[in-house]
Amino acid sequence: MVEEKLEFGGTKGAIGLILFSHFVPFYFLLSLQYNSGGLYVPSSFNQLIADLKESCSPTWSAFFLYTGFCLLQLVFAAILPGLQIKGLPVPTENNRQYTYNCNALASWYVTLVLVAVLHLTGILKLTILADQLGSVLCVAVIVGDIVSVIIHVYAIQTKQTCRMTHLPLYDFFMGVWLNPRIKFLGQEIDLKMLAEVRLSWLLLFLLIVSAALKQYEAFGVISWPMLLVLTAQLLYINACMKGEECIPTTWDIFYEKWGWMLIYWNLAGVPFVYCFQAHYILVNSLRTQQPTENISTVLMIIFFIILILAYYVWDSSLSQKIRFRMQQQGIDIARNAFPQMPWNVIQNPKYLKTECGSPLLIDGYWKYCRKPAYTADICMSTLWGLSCYQWPGLLPYFYPIFFFCMIIHRYTRDMARCQVKYGKDWTTYCQRVPYAFIPGLI
Ligand code: NDP
Repeated sequence: MVEEKLEFGGTKGAIGLILFSHFVPFYFLLSLQYNSGGLYVPSSFNQLIADLKESCSPTWSAFFLYTGFCLLQLVFAAILPGLQIKGLPVPTENNRQYTYNCNALASWYVTLVLVAVLHLTGILKLTILADQLGSVLCVAVIVGDIVSVIIHVYAIQTKQTCRMTHLPLYDFFMGVWLNPRIKFLGQEIDLKMLAEVRLSWLLLFLLIVSAALKQYEAFGVISWPMLLVLTAQLLYINACMKGEECIPTTWDIFYEKWGWMLIYWNLAGVPFVYCFQAHYILVNSLRTQQPTENISTVLMIIFFIILILAYYVWDSSLSQKIRFRMQQQGIDIARNAFPQMPWNVIQNPKYLKTECGSPLLIDGYWKYCRKPAYTADICMSTLWGLSCYQWPGLLPYFYPIFFFCMIIHRYTRDMARCQVKYGKDWTTYCQRVPYAFIPGLI
């Protein structure tokens, strides 16, 4: 019996997305290795296999690097000091509220210091990630797939499933377990939060820094486009860490199950697909031996200004909504992690009361459009692509296009979910805030 509406085109869509998600990072890797980030076209199938073997074979050092990183983050999650936060009530588990130990910020700082020390002392040069990109990618993909299978089988065997469709492949893709947790070093760790907040973003940052360091090693400079990518990621990732206590209230945590889609993309897809621009800039700098050719200073200044503005709207709008919800629940958490944005909390905000009990904010950014953070996020992802404009390749724009499609699809799913949850109150809200992304336009 189907208990949940099928998304992504059901089983066929799930199979297609699983195959496509495996294809993309390997294709990008081959394009970097064999065509400086341009389109990769092998001369034959045998050539493709030979190229894959040469550039993406798993190695023991890649295995230890990747699993060592994951294990270290698990240890940090267990031992570092953090803030205890209660999550939203889980309707499928008698409204149980899980506790989250939010110490991602401490993990982020400790990781940065540790990596800097290892690199500067020469014990473990961070450039090893750029050197072994294909092998580490291969290990990450294998680990992502294995973890997905283990979690799926374990959840079914221990009867910790929820919202099942009983279409085996579709359930594997969407997940069956909402809140997978393990006891580690005496601490209960939420695996979905760990993977979503730390593993994906921290590894992504390290992959980008490794590309920047390689460029620095080769030329003694880090080019402005590389710096743009680095700054964009630094701001984004730091925001995820400093606002970790807000994440339990996001859709991924309270609604999405930890299935293949989230596991694979957190453990492999996000870090290795999202780091493409930095590695594209690196390989093209090395190819041309001119890391700063064709860079317009004016354009770079414009890009940096748009980046800072988009980041500001993204950070403060999400903060307004989440702090509002926390205020409504009587949760008062003052955290002063750097940087705190002006207008990130609205005092006495206007809101719509709803029959289901969750009020809807119609103040701050949220009175102008329903998805201010999505708009800002789209701007930032576009800039990541544009950071590669020095060279005429197409692949750097894959990420912004992919992100755009993903976020529009997410928007339609969220609208449908909210329509079911809020009923006529959602219709009233949409009349009150008629624009989705850009006030006055769409
Ligand atoms: P939103 O921040 O828009 O949150 C949507 C949820 O918030 C709704 O389901 C609803 O949940 C609640 N909500 C909606 N409108 C209001 C309102 N007016 N007042 C109060 N609550 C409201 O989206 P997401 O959680 O999807 O995304 C958060 C951020 O993460 C975005 O910036 C997005 O771009 C980013 N993101 C990035 C990804 C990446 O790969 N880089 C992937 C996915 C997201 P309810 O009412 O049930 O609480």
